[in-house]
Amino acid sequence: MKDAALKPAMAAMQHATRVGVLLPLPLAGPYDYRISARLPRGTLVSAPLGPREALGVVWGEGEGKVSDAKLKEAVPLEGIPKLPASLCDFIDWLANYTLTPQGAVLAMALRSRSAFEPEVPRIAYARGPATPARLSDGRKRVLELMADGLARSVPSIAEDANVSSAVVRGLIDAGALEEVELPEFNPLACPDGNIAPALLSREQEEATNSIREDIAEGHFATSLLDGVTGSGKTETYFEAVAEALKRDKQVLILLPEIALTVQFLDRFAERFGCRPAEWHSDLSQKERKRVYRAVMNGEAKVVVGARSALFLPFPNLGLIIVDEEHEQAYKQEDGVIYHARDMAVVRARIENCPIVLASATPSIETFVNASSGRYRWLRLHSRHGVATMPVVKLIDLRHACAEPGTWLSLPLREAIAATLASGEQAMLFLNRRGYAPLTLCEACGHKMTCRDCSSWLVEHRYHRRLTCHHCGYTEPTPANCPQCGAAHSLIACGPGVERVAEEFASVFPQARMMIASSDTMHGPLETQAAIRAMAKHEIDVVIGTQIVAKGHHFPQLTLVGVIDADLGGSDGDVRARERTFQLLHQVSGRADRAEKPGFVLIQTRNPEDAVMKALASGDRDSFYRQEIEYRERVQAPPFGRLAAVILSGADGELVRDAGRVLAKAAPSARGIKIWGPTPAFYHLLRGQTRERLLVQAERNVDVQAYLRSWFDAVKIPNAVRVTADVDPVSFF
Ligand code: ADP
Ligand code: ZN
Repeated sequence: MKDAALKPAMAAMQHATRVGVLLPLPLAGPYDYRISARLPRGTLVSAPLGPREALGVVWGEGEGKVSDAKLKEAVPLEGIPKLPASLCDFIDWLANYTLTPQGAVLAMALRSRSAFEPEVPRIAYARGPATPARLSDGRKRVLELMADGLARSVPSIAEDANVSSAVVRGLIDAGALEEVELPEFNPLACPDGNIAPALLSREQEEATNSIREDIAEGHFATSLLDGVTGSGKTETYFEAVAEALKRDKQVLILLPEIALTVQFLDRFAERFGCRPAEWHSDLSQKERKRVYRAVMNGEAKVVVGARSALFLPFPNLGLIIVDEEHEQAYKQEDGVIYHARDMAVVRARIENCPIVLASATPSIETFVNASSGRYRWLRLHSRHGVATMPVVKLIDLRHACAEPGTWLSLPLREAIAATLASGEQAMLFLNRRGYAPLTLCEACGHKMTCRDCSSWLVEHRYHRRLTCHHCGYTEPTPANCPQCGAAHSLIACGPGVERVAEEFASVFPQARMMIASSDTMHGPLETQAAIRAMAKHEIDVVIGTQIVAKGHHFPQLTLVGVIDADLGGSDGDVRARERTFQLLHQVSGRADRAEKPGFVLIQTRNPEDAVMKALASGDRDSFYRQEIEYRERVQAPPFGRLAAVILSGADGELVRDAGRVLAKAAPSARGIKIWGPTPAFYHLLRGQTRERLLVQAERNVDVQAYLRSWFDAVKIPNAVRVTADVDPVSFF
């Protein structure tokens, strides 16, 4: 008896193989496990890890570091498709490029753990064989409702038939309703490319056709879809989506921010008959499970998502779209540091499918790739319909303000008055939340700074608090200076949106005004409500941060005022000018969607600056050429490569020491220069001291290999964290 039971187990042992299993944890690499049969890369397994069972993925051959006797057994998950091999390759590639442990990248791809749990069938009821002799009105209503043969839950029957659940239970007991099991999720609606195709202009048609050809041939190709807002980029790539659907391929559309998706989903539904699947951080556990599984089994044809959607297990990806490809929101700055636009190109290459980058103000990197012919450059020159370009004027802030401490110049006030008088709407833009960015003691000069960060506390007058915009630290605005004790000596310096709103209200007390920033609008729903109020003209003037800069269409909005165009700053950041241009161009675009011609007034202290001139003249490309020339001269990206190394830790002295040790240990190599260590721009952040080094390399240098050999050669104390940011886009 005993022997008989042992035999199959022995046989299984003989067929068992050793595999490397990657766990979604920041470990050095895959761990060896024993597995009952040879299973392909990507197979999901349950693997013992210490006292618990962990989710893992068969990654490749085992390494043989652990002896056979110590090898633990991993068990494949039943009824779950494997991760596509292309996704595993992508994870390896990204881990290598960003110098991140593979397991930490895998964790992003396995974020929905519940997706790997068995489905839980739903209990519902349908019409059964029996019909009770005596029927009350309530019972009649239920049976009428259920005559269609559909299965429903008890609460939904009760609600739809307007009876108590006791009535429903009574019918179940009488056999008039019987139990059925439904799958956990209803099937996803399938977008249909034939619902409402647009009649494309010639230029749009040409652009679509070349993307269509890529899809038909099923090969990797990158296109830049370049055209001003309103030129029909979305309309154009929708036709490419339709082509992919026709060929039964999956499509991934990346958007920079979830706040934008609601409008997008509706528009998609108009074109394709239903909403696409969504993927972003606001989904519930259950929605995640549903979408993840639908992607994995190929049911979800089109997914619209934020950057994390890049890690979904598409078995059959045929097209990737990256909308607003220049947006900085595509860069993930914590955890695994990566740029979703760049990595989307990598994923497309691995999947061997086309990718489309869309923007009115492409990133310099993409622009260079397009003009050098590496990417296909699809330009849409004209706008669709009658809308015209707005007139942009610069206002020299050094001369134009009536008195110090005011921010609305006389020309801007006049323009607002005229706009209000003709019953139109205006938008005032200032990329600063709160009342004032700096609070200072007039008596002793003390600046109110964060307890845990090297940043100023921002006054929020409405809440009577000072708040750190980096860590969220907040304190009530003190009555006396905490340094010298002087009373009533704290003064607000510089404007935030609240302060501009205060000035606005004093000049235009009759106007209906709204402040739009992340402090006043919490979450997508409130944002939607505000947008609706604006669209319905319940508001005359909106004063907001970049939250208002993004793609909304207000037909009555004819004036945009930029309160302070110089805010982007130039903190030695090579991308500052590009970013200022992109942001202000986008803000200006809010005035050009109206039926009437729009005006944009840009207040600046540097009207001679190339960025300001380009905005005023509308000559984007000559600004880009100038910027590219400059970058080429100083070997900045994309003509040279950058990597930042950030050391951080609670013990400042230890961090500074580690920075010096690391710098000294840098191997000298051709084509590589190391700058620093220097205190980071925020040298204190959430209580952590931060030092930075910058690696500047020639374009053909293997920066990752260099960083790896450098880090391997140095022993940094455990209390100091070393983070590499390859291709950094911000320098805080
Ligand atoms: P973009 O994405 O470049 O900002 P959109 O695709 O949103 O441009 O187009 C701007 C507006 O013009 C939208 O309302 C869109 O429906 C309309 N539009 C663009 N192209 C066409 C077309 N070929 N036929 C009908 N409407 C179009
Ligand atoms: Zn802080």
